[in-house]
Amino acid sequence: MDGSCQLAVLVSPSGEVVACSEALRPLLPDVTPLLPDLVHAEPENEVLLQGRRYTVTRQPLLNEAGTTFAFLIALQAVSVRRADHRLSEMVIAISSKLDIEHVLEQVVRFAMELLDADAGSLPLYDPERERLTIGHLVNLPVNTLTPIVTQRRGLMWQLIKQRTSILIADYPNHPVALPELVHRGVRSLLATSIVYGNTPLGILALYRMRDEPFQESDRDILQAIALQTAIALHSSRMYQRAMRNADERYALYQASLEMGATLDLEQLYQAIHRAVSRLVRHSRFMIATLVDQRTAEYVYVYTPDGRQPVQRWPVTHGLAGYVLRFGVSLRLSGAQMLAVPGAQPLPELEGNLAEGSFMATPLIVDDRIIGALVVGSDQRDVYAMSDLSALELLAATVAGALHNAMRFAHIQSLTITDVLTELVNRRHFFQILHHEIERSRRYRTPVSIAMIDLDHFKQVNDTYGHVVGDKLLREVALRCRRYVRDVDILARYGGEEYGLILPETRYESALLAAERLRQHVMSVPFTIDGHLISMTLSIGVASFQADVHPDPSSLVVDADRALYLAKQRGRNCVCGTKELSRYAEP
Ligand code: GH3
Ligand code: MG
Ligand code: MG
Repeated sequence: MDGSCQLAVLVSPSGEVVACSEALRPLLPDVTPLLPDLVHAEPENEVLLQGRRYTVTRQPLLNEAGTTFAFLIALQAVSVRRADHRLSEMVIAISSKLDIEHVLEQVVRFAMELLDADAGSLPLYDPERERLTIGHLVNLPVNTLTPIVTQRRGLMWQLIKQRTSILIADYPNHPVALPELVHRGVRSLLATSIVYGNTPLGILALYRMRDEPFQESDRDILQAIALQTAIALHSSRMYQRAMRNADERYALYQASLEMGATLDLEQLYQAIHRAVSRLVRHSRFMIATLVDQRTAEYVYVYTPDGRQPVQRWPVTHGLAGYVLRFGVSLRLSGAQMLAVPGAQPLPELEGNLAEGSFMATPLIVDDRIIGALVVGSDQRDVYAMSDLSALELLAATVAGALHNAMRFAHIQSLTITDVLTELVNRRHFFQILHHEIERSRRYRTPVSIAMIDLDHFKQVNDTYGHVVGDKLLREVALRCRRYVRDVDILARYGGEEYGLILPETRYESALLAAERLRQHVMSVPFTIDGHLISMTLSIGVASFQADVHPDPSSLVVDADRALYLAKQRGRNCVCGTKELSRYAEP
């Protein structure tokens, strides 16, 4: 831009002038009506203002969140030195957007126009995966580029490796000419690598189909364009990486929140899957955990269809096995997969992905490998190093959360008592009930249960505080347990609710036992921390009937309904299921 004559105006996204350069001020009345359109669309190349032609460029200014807060609209009087001018115009145009597609399109268009080419292409080079992608093409069918992209040979690869440019005046007779291009009528070719620093980013190639080959002077112009393109491509890649990192960090943050929120293994697996889905594309996802450090076997605890196969695998098998055995991540794709000795997917589970891509990473807690994450895609060359880094970063969070949840599940499985009351807990209550019901089915012996709830217990908490409430829960439990038979099982079912299993007890006897228990508990007030607290119970009673109760919980549901009836009847009483309407009707 001509420094002596800065014609620029800063415009809000709605088209209002925020600031304006001195030089532009005389033109402002003519420019202002154009602004609302200018902020909405890419400007036309040239506008006529007060009898002179100006090129207009528009550059959105982004805030940290990536949203446009203003536009810089710049005008430049059209000069006669067209090539120079067009080049600077291109620079402004391609750097106005950080979108790679836009950069590619603009560069090829400008280069073709400036150097009178009939066709152009700009394949991109991905240094991480060491491959070329089609990028942008003008006036050439995609298949003319596929040999260049898929086979790692030919002129283009030479340009990438040597970071040079090439001019071929007589393309059809050139030794490495591609038949596809000759067939399309390409007569001469001018191409240059696009290099940023030492890194090749792509190739800008121009083609002429007519009998008028490119000149050496054209090569200088093409290289100048390539230089500018490198800068624009680099910035848009940096921008994409920054956006990706921001997304990644957010996904990781979300993931750690979600994973920290649950100790339930099933829920945790799903949370992990959601987190992985946010970070990397995949068609398969699995979580494996080491079941036995000694025998070195693992199981898949989460598979794509939600099925948990019970099979144990030795760590010498499968991708998860490889990762568990060596404690290193894997990133595999197609033929490369066969090149890592011992890293073979389990066809049954991980898939036979000779045509796909894989990543696997170990889950490590305190230097101990506890499991592995495996992701797969049905497409080749899907995963870049950055994808693996993202997965590894997530694995750190997953490992901690999974370790906690597994430990919790383990502790839970060991504990059968409720810490506060020292009664058996709810889980164990169900285990015993299940056992008793099975016995009842087999030997046709009766079994009954009573669900016991403290009346107005909330008032105790409200009046004396939770500590006293806790102690009362403990005392009530003690008093009940001392009163019931040894064969009866008293459990802490929930907050201030107890469950009583009465083996070999018929309905009528169970009602009587419950009634006696109720009277016993209320007979003498409890003394807790010097407070005298009277407590009454409401009790619901149900007896197991093989044709009515398919499982333990259906029996508990019935007893609970009877308990609810007791509460409705004013509390401090016992109700049985026969008093419920369902039982009243035969
Ligand atoms: P209702 O007669 O209808 O049963 O009245 P309630 O106040 O006993 O019943 P509600 O279900 O409304 O309240 C039960 C209360 O028991 C609420 C909860 O704060 C308290 N609670 C549950 N578990 C515990 C515990 O472990 N310790 C203490 N201190 N309070 C508990
Ligand atoms: Mg209660
Ligand atoms: Mg209750």
